Amino acid sequence: MISIPRGTKDILPKDVYRWQYLEEEFRRCCESYGFSEIRTPVFEHTELFQRGVGDTTDIVQKEMYTFEIAGRSLTLRPEGTSPVARSYIENKLFAEPLPAKFYYAIPCFRYEKMQKGRQRQFHQFGIETFGAQDMLADAEVIALAIDFLSRLGIGNLSLRINSIGCPICRETYKKVLQDYLRPRLDEFCDTCKDRFDRNPMRMLDCKSKTCQSITKHAPRMIGYLCPECSEAFASLQANLDAMGIQYEIDTDIVRGLDYYTKTAFEIISEDIGAQSTVCGGGRYDHLIEEIGGPPTPGVGFGMGIERLLLVLEAVGAALPVPRPCDVFIAALGQPAMLEVQSVASALRKEGYRVLTDVMARNLKAQLKYADRSGAAYAVIIGDDELATQTAVLRDMRSSSQYEVNLDQIAAEIRRQEA
Ligand code: ATP
Ligand code: MG
Repeated sequence: MISIPRGTKDILPKDVYRWQYLEEEFRRCCESYGFSEIRTPVFEHTELFQRGVGDTTDIVQKEMYTFEIAGRSLTLRPEGTSPVARSYIENKLFAEPLPAKFYYAIPCFRYEKMQKGRQRQFHQFGIETFGAQDMLADAEVIALAIDFLSRLGIGNLSLRINSIGCPICRETYKKVLQDYLRPRLDEFCDTCKDRFDRNPMRMLDCKSKTCQSITKHAPRMIGYLCPECSEAFASLQANLDAMGIQYEIDTDIVRGLDYYTKTAFEIISEDIGAQSTVCGGGRYDHLIEEIGGPPTPGVGFGMGIERLLLVLEAVGAALPVPRPCDVFIAALGQPAMLEVQSVASALRKEGYRVLTDVMARNLKAQLKYADRSGAAYAVIIGDDELATQTAVLRDMRSSSQYEVNLDQIAAEIRRQEA
């Protein structure tokens, strides 16, 4: 028996409708804001993530699925933003009218410790806006996320925003923070000790209770913003206020990717316990330049689809369950079995989901299967019916049945459904 790798999951036919529903709603929502879908490969050159996500991040340091083939190092994408930025540059999309607005629904891969709501292959919805410096773009990205979640019927969410400054003000702050944390450095977890030199801001984000108790009163980035960053943060809040979007300022939000600047935000669900961040995003004004493109600001979010499903489950949201099959066409006798195919094909053209017997079973077995398949109607065609070009139409729910002309089946079903 070969089992599924740890941290991955099969999505079985009985559950896949939830995914399809979310994907369809996400697509519709993004397109209603003028975002277009972009599809990039599942793997990229490792260097893209080293430069894009940042060499000092947890993702690049220990979470990437990297492999070498024909002397090139490749990595399964751990996040969606750097590949989209790479594609934007490579395809010279900056020559098109700005801003460029993209969305995607993708699998991501991170070698992480497994917990509920945390997998090694997980899935994200994401959007990116390139080329807009104004905080109107940040507000639009946040509004789309909130809009999408509320279209799904998810309330009980809290939007937390923060500013993590720019490379200039962050440099000053980094020193202040290191000075504050240095005296108690040996009390931190190993991961945080590691973060102290390369990325001390991430220590504020640690999930360990001990670390949290030490960093609780540490100085926060927000107190050290340069005038430009501080003005941007005020402008973001004014935009959100004007749009009637509620938020809290959470100075603990750090984000795990190096490329973020200014705006950082998270949307938290109160309904799913520890891994409660459903959506995380922010601004990244240096990413595109960092990976070789023209200086271009960007802002976007990533939303975990598995976590979204956990929230939907927790709030008991009723997703529309599609019927697996509309019509089963049963045949009695060899000539009828062939006629079945043309009736089925006519119904399929009308948009019905149609099953026929492909196991040459007897009529009783076919009808038993029809019942188990969830079909709302069965059409029964035998030699007698063939001769008169009729069939028996049975409503599987009421078991009532009557004769109809072969060319009237679709019309009759439509009449019954109306
Ligand atoms: P977290 O703090 O939960 O580790 P993150 O900051 O690493 O999140 P991002 O890189 O911003 O997350 O990814 C965006 C979203 O993708 C997260 O808010 C979360 O919903 C989801 N996500 C991230 N990592 C995983 C994972 N290993 N399994 C499932 N979902 C994930
Ligand atoms: Mg993470």
